[in-house]
Amino acid sequence: MLSKETLEACSRLIPSDQPLDERNTRNRSMPVAFARGQQDLLRQWDREHVWHAFTQMQDYEPLLIERGEGAWLVDTDGRRYLDGSASMWCTVHGHRHPRLDAALAAQAAKVAHTTNLGLSNPTAVEFARRLVEVAPPGLEKVFFSGDGSSAIETALKMAFQFWIQAAPPQPRRTRFVAIGEAYHGDTLGAIGVGGVDRFTAMFQPLTFHAIRVPSPGGPCPATGTPAPSLAESLAAVERVFTAHAGEVAALIMEPLVQMAAGIYVHPPGFLRGVAELCRRHDVLLILDEVATGFGRTGTMFACEQEQVSPDFLCLAKGLTAGYLPMAATLTTGRVWNAFLGTHADRRTFFHGHTYGGNPLAAAVGLESLNVFRDDRVLESLPPKIERLREHAARIARLDHVGAVRQCGLVAGFDLVADKTTGQGYPWQEKRGMRASLAARSHGALVRPLGDTVVIMPPLSITLDELDHLAAAVEAGILDATA
Ligand SMILES: *Cc1c(COP(=O)(O)O)cnc(C)c1O
Repeated sequence: MLSKETLEACSRLIPSDQPLDERNTRNRSMPVAFARGQQDLLRQWDREHVWHAFTQMQDYEPLLIERGEGAWLVDTDGRRYLDGSASMWCTVHGHRHPRLDAALAAQAAKVAHTTNLGLSNPTAVEFARRLVEVAPPGLEKVFFSGDGSSAIETALKMAFQFWIQAAPPQPRRTRFVAIGEAYHGDTLGAIGVGGVDRFTAMFQPLTFHAIRVPSPGGPCPATGTPAPSLAESLAAVERVFTAHAGEVAALIMEPLVQMAAGIYVHPPGFLRGVAELCRRHDVLLILDEVATGFGRTGTMFACEQEQVSPDFLCLAKGLTAGYLPMAATLTTGRVWNAFLGTHADRRTFFHGHTYGGNPLAAAVGLESLNVFRDDRVLESLPPKIERLREHAARIARLDHVGAVRQCGLVAGFDLVADKTTGQGYPWQEKRGMRASLAARSHGALVRPLGDTVVIMPPLSITLDELDHLAAAVEAGILDATA
């Protein structure tokens, strides 16, 4: 954890001649908002009252981020850090984007929230329409909710109910197939299809059990076992579909890259192959693009790269460009039609999330799609992806970096005790966390996945900023593995 000395060192170490755009330069001269005593009090209250996600509170050392500008975050001391995790994989066009700020303010001047239970709102309607336009073909219906886990729960329950009400009904289709080391959120249904056992094994008695097929995205740094080949993985899916013929409601997967697993990149053709098997066995396909959606892999949605249109597309994180919590589950007319009927037919989807379709979130999400279009954001990505590839190749040569995996504008670096054997560090040493904390003192905020250090910046990051970020991460890894 960061000692006082380290924090002090951070401020010295952040180079004053780092490349900054105009906005950042202006930001640097802004006064520090909090006096020292006030900050100490906030840190104390943070430690005493705020229970942080995925954090051992006994070890927790507060770092209070007070504002952001573009790809940068600024703490209460005025120290600046590149947002190397896109604020937990959400931020797309950068912080304080003028157009997103304006869209939010304009909507707030009309109404902040109205329910979507039987009522509607022009902004949410327009956003749904635009989502359908950018989504892969066939996805015409949009169910809004509040976070990624809820988008997954929605898809799982819709898929389950679909088979009960399909023509003809297939009520034996009650099982779900998921990929090994999958992560689909932390609610009980989402962990039922999840496979990151170090988080979820304890809660298994509380939920259902998906049938798991091995991920072809490894090799698994924890066990060192090599990933199955493309052909082996597809054969495993087919074996499950055959062994459970007529029993599988849906297969759920993150397309192209499993993020929380440790940036597991699938071999080309896996998604396409799985989609074909689903079609052949009449299994619904749920794609979880909560993390991969909105440009992260280089295309608007990852599934476009293998020309796959799923039955359900789950979106969250980047849906509002990282401004507000919102999620969406997109599905097809076929699924929708199975839920139509009179009130007495009881075919309604009795499920909802109170803030679903929230107008403030919808306004920002809609404007984000406008920014994608007007600023040609997707066209701007190839040089950034290429620059990240160059940095990744350099970092891969470090003595304690093993496998490196990249997909679009995200890269993961496995820290290893022995580069020749690929032997990892004992997990108790928290090398990934130590490297990430050390990167702070070099001016970047990143969050690891176990002993995999991750670079996942906002799409709006400039090439100069990307250089700074990669250098900070490289320095952090060197500090933590020296
Ligand atoms: C983050 C994430 C989720 C869960 O989203 P929350 O908003 O945290 O509930 C689900 N699936 C994937 C792939 C994710 O990365």
